[in-house]
Amino acid sequence: MTKQKLHCSICGKTENEVEFIFQSYQVNICNECIDKLHEWSEKVKKINEDKFIEDLELKTPKQIKEYLDQYVIGQDKAKKILSVAVYNHYKRLNYFSKNKNNKDEVEIDKSNIIIIGQTGTGKTLLARTIARMLNVPFAIADATVLTEAGYVGEDVETILTRLLQASDYDVRKAERGIVFIDEIDKIARKSDSPSITRDVSGEGVQQALLKLLEGSIVQVPPQGGRKHPEQKLIAVDTKNILFIAAGAFNNIDRIISSRLKSNAIGYGQAVQRNNIDRDNIIKYVKPQDIKKFGLIPELVGRFPILTHLDPLDKDALKNILTLPKNAIVKQYIKLFEMDGIKLSFTDEALDVFVQRAIEYELGARGLRGLLEEVMNDIMYEYPQSNKKEIVITKKLVEDKFLAQ
Ligand code: ADP
Repeated sequence: MTKQKLHCSICGKTENEVEFIFQSYQVNICNECIDKLHEWSEKVKKINEDKFIEDLELKTPKQIKEYLDQYVIGQDKAKKILSVAVYNHYKRLNYFSKNKNNKDEVEIDKSNIIIIGQTGTGKTLLARTIARMLNVPFAIADATVLTEAGYVGEDVETILTRLLQASDYDVRKAERGIVFIDEIDKIARKSDSPSITRDVSGEGVQQALLKLLEGSIVQVPPQGGRKHPEQKLIAVDTKNILFIAAGAFNNIDRIISSRLKSNAIGYGQAVQRNNIDRDNIIKYVKPQDIKKFGLIPELVGRFPILTHLDPLDKDALKNILTLPKNAIVKQYIKLFEMDGIKLSFTDEALDVFVQRAIEYELGARGLRGLLEEVMNDIMYEYPQSNKKEIVITKKLVEDKFLAQ
């Protein structure tokens, strides 16, 4: 009895007609079909990738800023800088995907961004709004919990775990996402000179972060942390991930002031000195200032775009209450409207909230809590009353605060 010849389950060729036949449990595939399948799979991958980039629907910087304007009050300078940076980033992605195999093409570097501004001025809100507009995965990481590998705390790779989670573990999506690293100033090294003793939560973390920012393949624990040593690591290429770091950099104004002072003296430009806006020194921030603050030069170099947020004054806070598309006041009005009640706030009542927020030094972050304090009682009582209209007056707000 002759042995039956092995043949390819797809094209039917026998082992004599091809170089080899790969045998698996139920099917046999010849080398020619393997090549064809590979070619086909690459084509599909490319089509999907191009579609993803097209889906990003490249908006112009002006359109990006207009979108941000709907949600974020003021901060025009930062909005413009961010709009251009994001536009360039996605243009770069587009270019990168078209010229991936062309080694002669000019490489366009990524432009990670660092935003400096007091707490509650809109740093997270800006990054979050951008991510929502682009419809890309977005993850927020808190730099304060990070430590150098091997020490108590979280490894920097867990930042990417969050991004993977935000992309439903679709690695290709994650590789085009945005990571927001908050409180980057808290990992500043303790002095301007390199440390002699180990600085595991400062300089050590900065060194570890470099690896992520440099655009390399990072092995990411899909469930994060060190609690699951058995988990299989996922390789994530960070080359096209946009990193936006932010921090309050408390007291950096002293560093900026002293630089401005020595510059002015150095060049003998007394006039320049007089023109300085002393109420908002932070707007003169330069990379050398954050270096002096304690970020290592390599890390500063990985954030080519540096911008600042202005402190929020009374008018800005009041506008935040009423103007954004999802402004807090609009949200309460909507909630009451659902029960057929017309809710309104007098201008003076809004001023009381703003004044309190300023006293608490929480920026806009305090506003929601303050409104909640007052509105909670009212929301508790009104469903049982027959009122069809409620006006929140200055007196009512003041009385509620006094009663607490
Ligand atoms: P941080 O600068 O500390 O990251 P956030 O962006 O988290 O501050 O702001 C806290 C909250 O305050 C936001 O959710 C938003 O409701 C409000 N907020 C802060 N700044 C602005 C702004 N410029 N425009 C509109 N809302 C703002």
